[in-house]
Amino acid sequence: MPKILVSACLYGECTKYDGTNNILKNPFFLRWKNRGELIPVCPEVMGGLPTPRPCSEICGGKVINTLGEDVTEAFNKGAREALDIAKNNNVTFAILKQGSPSCGCKKIHDGTFSGNKISGMGVTARLLTDNGIVVFDEDDIALANLLYTHAGKKHTHH
Ligand code: SF4
Repeated sequence: MPKILVSACLYGECTKYDGTNNILKNPFFLRWKNRGELIPVCPEVMGGLPTPRPCSEICGGKVINTLGEDVTEAFNKGAREALDIAKNNNVTFAILKQGSPSCGCKKIHDGTFSGNKISGMGVTARLLTDNGIVVFDEDDIALANLLYTHAGKKHTHH
């Protein structure tokens, strides 16, 4: 059975910086969830950060929060743990929350805390990608489902 690594906040856990979630009700996502195929991870929580927590952005290769604290190490630790979990579960791919400094795979905030977004990857999305794990976002579920179907066929043939 294929496994999929997902952002805990998309799964419905209240791990967002403000203590809420981004629960995703997409039908494919819900089917995978009901079958127990989703593995929720929150890299920022696994990195040791509290919830709620100040917002962070990637700025010049570091991760800085709104208090001006350097939280790069916590972000890196969370990313490594997410990668370990992905590998241990042999996940087929990941679906991570867009725009997050950890989970974003296409866009992140520009580091000025002004709401501007630029092309780029969050710390965890980058580490997973560098290790050959395909990362989708919540808008790419239909595409993810194609890969899922393909992986499912491979499972049956072997
Ligand atoms: S780090 Fe990722 S999983 Fe955790 S709250 Fe942010 S977007 Fe969601």
